[in-house]
Amino acid sequence: MSKIIESINIQGSIYTGDDVSKYALDFGKTITKKPLAVANTTSAEDIIKIIAVAKKHSVPLSIRGAGHSCYGQTLCNGGIVINNISSKPQFKVHSESVEVNTRTRWLDLENALNAMGRSLPVLTDYLTFSVGGTLSVGGYGVRSVTEGSQVDQVQKLQIITWNGDILWCSPDENEEIFRYALCGMGQLGIIEKVIMRTTPYFPKPILHHYRHPSLEHLVATFESFLDENNSFPDYFEAAMVGENFLNFSHPIVNRILKTGTHLLLGKKIIGSRYGFHNKERINFEKSELLRNIKPKISTIKDNYALFSHRKQDKYVSSLHRQKRIWTDYMLNYEGLCKFTSFMEEELQDKKLANYLGVLYFLGNRKPKKKIHFAFEPASGIKDRMTFLVGVFYAVPENDTTGVNYVREALKRSLQKVVSLGGRPYLYGWNDLDNKMRNSLYGDSCEKMINLCQELDPEGVGKLLPSFTGETNAV
Ligand SMILES: Cc1cc2nc3c(=O)[nH]c(=O)nc-3n(C[C@H](O)[C@H](O)[C@H](O)COP(=O)(O)OP(=O)(O)OC[C@H]3O[C@@H](n4cnc5c(N)ncnc54)[C@H](O)[C@@H]3O)c2cc1C
Repeated sequence: MSKIIESINIQGSIYTGDDVSKYALDFGKTITKKPLAVANTTSAEDIIKIIAVAKKHSVPLSIRGAGHSCYGQTLCNGGIVINNISSKPQFKVHSESVEVNTRTRWLDLENALNAMGRSLPVLTDYLTFSVGGTLSVGGYGVRSVTEGSQVDQVQKLQIITWNGDILWCSPDENEEIFRYALCGMGQLGIIEKVIMRTTPYFPKPILHHYRHPSLEHLVATFESFLDENNSFPDYFEAAMVGENFLNFSHPIVNRILKTGTHLLLGKKIIGSRYGFHNKERINFEKSELLRNIKPKISTIKDNYALFSHRKQDKYVSSLHRQKRIWTDYMLNYEGLCKFTSFMEEELQDKKLANYLGVLYFLGNRKPKKKIHFAFEPASGIKDRMTFLVGVFYAVPENDTTGVNYVREALKRSLQKVVSLGGRPYLYGWNDLDNKMRNSLYGDSCEKMINLCQELDPEGVGKLLPSFTGETNAV
């Protein structure tokens, strides 16, 4: 079989053997599935050729962007991983939109748009992801507080089904496939291109940084986002960094990153950050609680997206010897308040608290005409304003007991989120059983399975545990 696969004539490259081992793991580094081959694809034609051979010889396929999922979503036992990422961005800029190939990394696209005075409305805090990988899960960032998610910015997409057919989809054309492909984790096929909205580029934003005495205090300040008549900041994010968070501001941090030794922060820090495009924008409706705290004010040299990306890049480098058991949850405000109290109780357990890197918060204000994406975290909540909470644990590579300990903790948090009417973010570590899956997505799972069968009668694309109600073995 290896010989047949290696002989597929594509513009990119295809290989088998030991070199594939890197693709047996994802960012989480906890689940292992070894593929037979990896195909670095560079065009739709490459993908279609691979699908044809896989169909003929019944070889399973998976699609991977930058591989930053945490629960094995891109892995493929004994099959071919379509490695769909490129350092050569491919896009066409229109006056208020961009048509981009999903192999492109956000960083390359945003840099090119900025040079033309444009920007993507929403970007994640780490920009090495592929356009396809993030749009297949959702995409939230500091600008979600006013702009919603990245999938909310997509006007049209082109998909290659697992049967090798090419379809254009939008709210007016193949509407159902549009709603199930975005945030659909590659189940319906490979999103090849998208047309997305762009906005004017604002360099040098002004930031107001606040410190909070407790998580309860922090979350109480978010209440001001619920009033539709309030003026909002242009950017918003908040975090509680755990006691074992690496202190990047320390002068010897670079040396530490090289040796892998951790210099720990040693205390919990709870902070929020409000950003404004320029001075004219800084009059926003602060919560009563925020009015009593004097912020530290700073300006960023270039732009917020690059500022976040650099910080996240350092953090991720510090975790190179850790398993990253990460997930995020989306909740409405009431659910968020209850969930943070629950987390505070959970983190009374010092053993668990030691594994926690960060609790991260974003606001997400849906567009007025919101399209309902079947598996998008925010689409599952009827309130216009929703909140994303990232729960990021890191466990040393050889600490198997720790992995199981954290896994049990994440099972409890998922149960809590579901009981509060929230939804998990499917890039992350979420053990969804059938009962939970049905209560979260109802008929949408059946619908996804039916669409998969319609578009891919021979079943080349494999359904992920999130859609079947199975769980992954560690
Ligand atoms: C360090 C870090 C920081 C993060 N920060 C944020 C953040 O600020 N905001 C946020 O919203 N999320 C964030 N995330 C989550 C991130 O958005 C997801 O992990 C995202 O999937 C990463 O993109 P990727 O290219 O690595 O995707 P992959 O992990 O490669 O793929 C994700 C899923 O999409 C499928 N897929 C990939 N490409 C395609 C395609 N072209 N067509 C169809 N399906 C495809 C894969 O099969 C898989 O199921 C973060 C994750 C990490 C690890």
